[in-house]
Amino acid sequence: MTKHQRAIEVNAVIKAISDHGRRFFFNAAHQRVAFMDVGPRGHIFFTDDYSGKRVYISSSGRWHGFTHGGTLRHLVEMFAEYIRHGHKLHPDYIGIQNQSLVNGDIWGYGAEAVDAVRAAVLWSPVFNLLCPTCQHPLEDADISRQPPEPEFYICPKCYMCSRSTKEEI
Ligand SMILES: [Zn+2]
Repeated sequence: MTKHQRAIEVNAVIKAISDHGRRFFFNAAHQRVAFMDVGPRGHIFFTDDYSGKRVYISSSGRWHGFTHGGTLRHLVEMFAEYIRHGHKLHPDYIGIQNQSLVNGDIWGYGAEAVDAVRAAVLWSPVFNLLCPTCQHPLEDADISRQPPEPEFYICPKCYMCSRSTKEEI
């Protein structure tokens, strides 16, 4: 997959996030959804839903025109890493409901909206699939995708091989 193709996959995830809950990345006044793109020299940009600015995000300093807080900046940084190198995200980053955090629902989306976003991006290549047995994130090498056959998983953590269809997950 090229950087450009990965940006398209990220934009589908951003759209799913913007469709639910508090609608992060969607600005009602401008009817605008944020998106990411790759410049001709491989630099990655984020077009902000509120400011409308195409923000250069390859710098670690201030992102001029980025109007969101640290949680979404971190998410956008991880999206950029996926676009650059194909590093997939753990699906728990959707909604960040990590039990070890004091306030699990950092996004303030509520469990239902978080579940809706996760369901919408379950088969997105931006995120790792989880082992159905132990929930360990599976890499592409662990999964053979040969539709219309059911997917075949070999989990390196629990050494469990399992077949499952979309419906069973
Ligand atoms: Zn496993």
